[in-house]
Amino acid sequence: MKEKLIRLMAGRYGADELFYLLTGLYLVMTVANIFARSWILHVAGLVVFTIAVLRSLSRNIPARQRENQLVLRAGAKLGLKRKPDPHPERDKVNFAYKKCPGCGKTLRLPRRKGKHTTKCPSCGEVFKVKIR
Ligand SMILES: [Zn+2]
Repeated sequence: MKEKLIRLMAGRYGADELFYLLTGLYLVMTVANIFARSWILHVAGLVVFTIAVLRSLSRNIPARQRENQLVLRAGAKLGLKRKPDPHPERDKVNFAYKKCPGCGKTLRLPRRKGKHTTKCPSCGEVFKVKIR
């Protein structure tokens, strides 16, 4: 069962901050609907949850990362706390750090702007990266 789940999620986006935000919103709507008993709220909650699940199963990782960044930036503008840089020692000027969708290892890539195809030296997964 666990193996099946790993195979299903290979190359897919998975959970991010926006996923937890949407799932949390769904739970709040569901709890609120115990009292409100509104079919509109019920359907809206299901739509929110469906979006969260479909995003996590998406293979279009750059697009999902962009959405997540938009939400994080909006949150930062609202004054919400941002986590401190977990890797302050990394040279982010000359290198870009991208996670391999196959094995989850972080690859250090030369920072050349544009779209590239790269191969993970650890698991051999070939995937596209976009460097800004
Ligand atoms: Zn890999």
